[in-house]
Amino acid sequence: MRFSVEELKKSGYILQRDAEYFTVRLRIPGGHLTSRQMASIGEVAERYGRGELHLTARQGIEIPWVRFEDLGEVTRTLEEIGTPPGSCGPRVRNISACPGLPVCSHANIDTQGLARKLDERFFDVDLPTKLKLAITGCPNSCAKPQVNDIGIMGVVKPRIIPEACDGCGKCVETCKEGAIKLVGGIAQIDYNRCIYCGECVRACPVGADQAERVGYTIFVGGNVGRHPRLAYKLVDFATEEMIFRIVENCLIFFEEEGVRGERLGHLIERIGLGEAFRRILS
Ligand code: SF4
Ligand code: SF4
Ligand code: SF4
Repeated sequence: MRFSVEELKKSGYILQRDAEYFTVRLRIPGGHLTSRQMASIGEVAERYGRGELHLTARQGIEIPWVRFEDLGEVTRTLEEIGTPPGSCGPRVRNISACPGLPVCSHANIDTQGLARKLDERFFDVDLPTKLKLAITGCPNSCAKPQVNDIGIMGVVKPRIIPEACDGCGKCVETCKEGAIKLVGGIAQIDYNRCIYCGECVRACPVGADQAERVGYTIFVGGNVGRHPRLAYKLVDFATEEMIFRIVENCLIFFEEEGVRGERLGHLIERIGLGEAFRRILS
């Protein structure tokens, strides 16, 4: 059976410059691996490549120097390890995510769990151009949602219970945005300054600063590459169910209106924010 270079690339086998070898790109949602998987991937690189691995910018791993005739065996082995070959070209790419809950002390959401669910549903869907999706656990934005085609950020809206507040000022010290002050010995939040990081909620020793809402801020239209641009903020506090609907709508919109080589952000610009947002949010 003959395969074109494009077909092979679609499945994560990228022809190298010398045209004799392939680099095999792995599918690793959220960049999360067990140590056993990591060791097994290393063994694959030893056996079929030159014992080298490359960590990609999207938390993936690539195994360079694999010969065409070994691709079948490499694929079978990687599938057994649970890290099958990934994707390249115009489609949904490896979904990246920061560590999130329960690992990071700043996290508001389970980024890794969400990455796995989104990966199951949307990974590798064909599109006019590549689409990158990133999930970050809080506004520190370690996973850079603002420069991904679709970015998701975990957020918490705080609320002060005045009768429980003893005026200790811990929340005031904690807030890096200067969004809290004591008024008459009671904490007060300025929501024009608040960026919903949730740090003040975690800092309050008596539970007077509570999470009124936990949700997901969704960004669309960011990218780096040849023509970089920052994303638009689409929704402040989405539910998990809304995320799936919005991602699905983005892919349909992109599929129907996008042209080859045009990123989602440039498509939104071309169609117009109003019409694009209407379709993405419908
Ligand atoms: S974005 Fe927030 S939750 Fe994620 S790793 Fe960074 S600090 Fe932690
Ligand atoms: S959620 Fe973050 S930004 Fe908002 S008031 Fe609390 S600490 Fe400040
Ligand atoms: S940390 Fe809690 S108790 Fe202390 S001032 Fe803030 S809201 Fe009040």
